[in-house]
Amino acid sequence: MTLRTARNPSVEARCNARRYDRAMLTIDADALLADLDPAQREAVITVRGPLCILAGAGTGKTRVITRRVAYALATEAVRPSDVLVVTFTDKAATEMRDRLAAAGRRGVSAFTFHAAALRQLRHFWPRIHDRDLPSVLSSKASLLAPLARSLPGGYRYLAVRDLAAEIEWAKARRIAPAGYADGVIGQRHDGPLPPDLMARFYRDYETARDRAGLIDFEDMLAMTVELIEGNEAVAAEVRARYRWFSVDEYQDTNPLQQALLDAWLGGRDDLAVVGDEDQTIYTFTGATSDYLTGFSARYPDARIVRLESNFRSTPQVLGLANRVLAAGRAADDERAAGTAARPEKRLVPTLDGGPSPHIAGFDTDDAELAGITTAIRALARDNITHGDMAILVRTNAQLPALEAGLGAAGIPFHVRGERFFARPEVRRALRVAAALDRPLDARRVAESSEAVPDALPARLAGAFEQELGVHRDTVPDGDAARERHAAVVTLLELAEALAAADPGTDVAGFLAEVERRAAAESSGAINGVELLTYHRAKGLEWEAVFLPALEDGTLPIRQASDPGELAEERRLLYVGITRARRHLWLSWARRRTASTGREGRRSRSRFLDGLIPAPVRTVRVVPSETPQRLAAGDRSPLSNALRAWRTARARADQVAPFIVFHDSTIEAIADRRPATMPELRRVPGVGPMKLDRYGEEIIAIVARTLEATPDDGPH
Ligand code: ATP
Ligand code: MG
Repeated sequence: MTLRTARNPSVEARCNARRYDRAMLTIDADALLADLDPAQREAVITVRGPLCILAGAGTGKTRVITRRVAYALATEAVRPSDVLVVTFTDKAATEMRDRLAAAGRRGVSAFTFHAAALRQLRHFWPRIHDRDLPSVLSSKASLLAPLARSLPGGYRYLAVRDLAAEIEWAKARRIAPAGYADGVIGQRHDGPLPPDLMARFYRDYETARDRAGLIDFEDMLAMTVELIEGNEAVAAEVRARYRWFSVDEYQDTNPLQQALLDAWLGGRDDLAVVGDEDQTIYTFTGATSDYLTGFSARYPDARIVRLESNFRSTPQVLGLANRVLAAGRAADDERAAGTAARPEKRLVPTLDGGPSPHIAGFDTDDAELAGITTAIRALARDNITHGDMAILVRTNAQLPALEAGLGAAGIPFHVRGERFFARPEVRRALRVAAALDRPLDARRVAESSEAVPDALPARLAGAFEQELGVHRDTVPDGDAARERHAAVVTLLELAEALAAADPGTDVAGFLAEVERRAAAESSGAINGVELLTYHRAKGLEWEAVFLPALEDGTLPIRQASDPGELAEERRLLYVGITRARRHLWLSWARRRTASTGREGRRSRSRFLDGLIPAPVRTVRVVPSETPQRLAAGDRSPLSNALRAWRTARARADQVAPFIVFHDSTIEAIADRRPATMPELRRVPGVGPMKLDRYGEEIIAIVARTLEATPDDGPH
């Protein structure tokens, strides 16, 4: 029996694998340190907590956290099953597990606080309470909507999402309904309702949730804390399970998560945290960087390691990031006049130089979008894959215009996170539109043709006003309410654009276009340009990053008013800039129609003041411009026409004219006068890419010019 098992090839293979793993342990402990800088190495070999790694963006914090686990396992300082790594997103947790598994380190737990809490609750709850864990409420909206409708007066129209966010803020800060009014005053927090009213609303929500026998995401954490702290057996079991803790992105931890971490630790201190105070971007949800900055006060024995070198971005990208940091610090110091200024912090580059960030203001949002698509094409020609490019937005309401622009340009894209056409208010608005479909078509038969152009946008605007209470020109208060408003207005703008292109467009045509776009959005290209919010971009990196719409009202967002909120907005810009490895694009538009609700004049984000050299070039895009008179000298009319076209085209694409065609190529075309695409292809300097992009325009110019100047005989 024993012999048979020993000869079993799979068992043998496993034994060999184990022997191989053992051999690897000693060999690769050193190898694990080879590609680290001295500060990173110090952090990695400090396998015993408490350890706090304080460092700026792209300095390798996440790499160090992962490597430290591998190193501790390799040196047998800890067993895989003892380890719990807390990440900020599920995706980061999966990546961490995969990376360790790829290095032969299986069995390590990496979860978000929520995922870890849920696992423990599922395990212990039935045992302690002798019944199943209540179901987890995926969204508070269903419970809040009826409560919101019974709020007094104008408060009835507040977005449910804003009310939910406020309850989440309070719960994350461990503030119960009874303590809410004092809590907001103490923390100088501005809620969507007067404190007493909000406290009552919060209490009613808790009652409704209890009655429904449900728990929400914050309860999951709070109940886990209570379970551990209120039951010695549970505490002993949980604490025996995990003995070695690491937390990534620690600057965005909230009091509830910290309480859970403390409950897990139970007074022990084998904890390593990493974070960057300057990347704190979730304080609006109740998070605080105080736990990071106060780490050494809580753990006087803690080893503090600072990582100085940035391994992600070019000196050009970091130069800009450092200026944002310095400006933020100056603003903070001004606010905290009298108290000690924070030490200066700079990201020190290690990579070679790259291109300067592309910084440009545009006349309109359409021109900005055209500039972005042109730049994306140019990067793709340089062999940067679409998946290694990202466009960051402040709010999801900015997405549809970008999606439409990329879609029209044939550029594959992928939306990360919440999709526009999946938003509840967009789906509701589309249901309202669908309900209009039949009556409109029936009536349209009798309508005069002149009435048709206005029919679609006006009908939709009327219906949205009546059914959804969304008035195009009345922008409501509250983050979510504004976003909801902007989303509905975006649909109206889509209807207007369709009606402008084809005055005969009806509701059915509108819905068909929406369906087409929603399908493009949800299918997403596997290797497409990533579209996502700054908040979701945390911890990630791309070769090329686009930060459009850097305008007051968007970044900083309109509702950010007090200095603390503005400081957080500036940190978002810092996070955005530091996502780029090599190519960085910052832009704004002076006039914007999409996603603001109204055609409006915009001004460049105040965060760019003093940051970028003035004056900044304004790019005017006038594609149908009359060809300029050039000092033609003895050039042929065709050469002049081609040069004029090149000037306009280069402007429209925001590239230097020689990028379109070199002088020599222009002269060669003028000389050979190609009448067909294959003829044009044979002209030196006209490759397949240029043929594809400009071919038809060139052939048309040649034909038109020769027709107008028939006497300019053949060369
Ligand atoms: P963020 O603050 O954005 O979360 P981070 O500090 O966690 O950034 P990482 O994501 O770990 O930084 O690393 C940034 C980039 O630098 C990654 O591509 C990583 O592989 C690379 N990197 C980190 N350390 C080194 C090193 N010593 N040598 C070469 N590349 C490195
Ligand atoms: Mg990181």
